[in-house]
Amino acid sequence: MLDESAPGRYKPAMNWLSNFVLPKIRAVVTKKPVPDNLWTKCLGCEQMLFHRELEANLRVCRNCGHHLRISADQRLKILFGEGDFTRIELPKTIVDPLKFRDRRRYSDRLREGQTTLGAGSDAVVVAHGEIGGFPAVVAAFEFQFMGGSMGVAAGEAVVAAAKLAVLQEAALILVPASGGARMQEGALSLMQMPRTILAADMVKEKGLPYIVLLTDPTTGGVSASFAMVGDITLAEPGAVVGFAGARVIEETIHEKLPEGFQRAEYLFDHGMVDLVVPRAELHTTLARILGLLRAPNPAATAAAVTPGAL
Ligand SMILES: [Zn+2]
Repeated sequence: MLDESAPGRYKPAMNWLSNFVLPKIRAVVTKKPVPDNLWTKCLGCEQMLFHRELEANLRVCRNCGHHLRISADQRLKILFGEGDFTRIELPKTIVDPLKFRDRRRYSDRLREGQTTLGAGSDAVVVAHGEIGGFPAVVAAFEFQFMGGSMGVAAGEAVVAAAKLAVLQEAALILVPASGGARMQEGALSLMQMPRTILAADMVKEKGLPYIVLLTDPTTGGVSASFAMVGDITLAEPGAVVGFAGARVIEETIHEKLPEGFQRAEYLFDHGMVDLVVPRAELHTTLARILGLLRAPNPAATAAAVTPGAL
């Protein structure tokens, strides 16, 4: 039908084209978004892993045993096992003190992290509960939040966790998953290194266990501070733990680094780690360690030794 107001144009026909035909064509041409969260590629063996199966196996590859990174929330659930735990609110700290900007504003990066992980969050979460019937405070790093980098907020969270452990006469368990200090906070982030060491000392001085679980990755300023002073140091299989990256070291010393350098197993072989523990055994291992350290009535009794008898 001719449109009288605009000679030469077929108005109803156009409506039919734009309302009916075009959407049909678009539907055929446009690619349907494929859900990209159904499968995850294992970084160890490159096999595609079905997400539901992977989650059920605590994000450990069934094929090669590679331990994929997990969120701090998942970490808390795994460490506390079936037990209840309570996350604590962490002290508010100064935001973007240097008004830092590289390719993007630091404040934008913070906002982005908080959109994903909740308002007020930063790279460390702290919770308390019981492991194997013994009180425990866990501070777990969130790698998703700016690579788990340690700035003022993360340092403050570690101090808060230590204070809580002292208050509750609980063990302190720290779980780093971090690229190191947060460069956007400059020297303030470096100051968190001695602060977190002091936090660990606070717990040790009270005779409470300070346990570190090294996870992938533990590098930079985090590996050079509280992460290396645990009474007992555990590590997840395959975790990269070191100060500087392997490539940087290789280029500096002009030598080929040994096989498995900076991996949990290598550190265990060289006495830096006490035990490499698969993720599925973390809860029971921690319960056993806390039992050994804290049980009021240990299974074995110490025999008195008469002077001169030996
Ligand atoms: Zn694998």
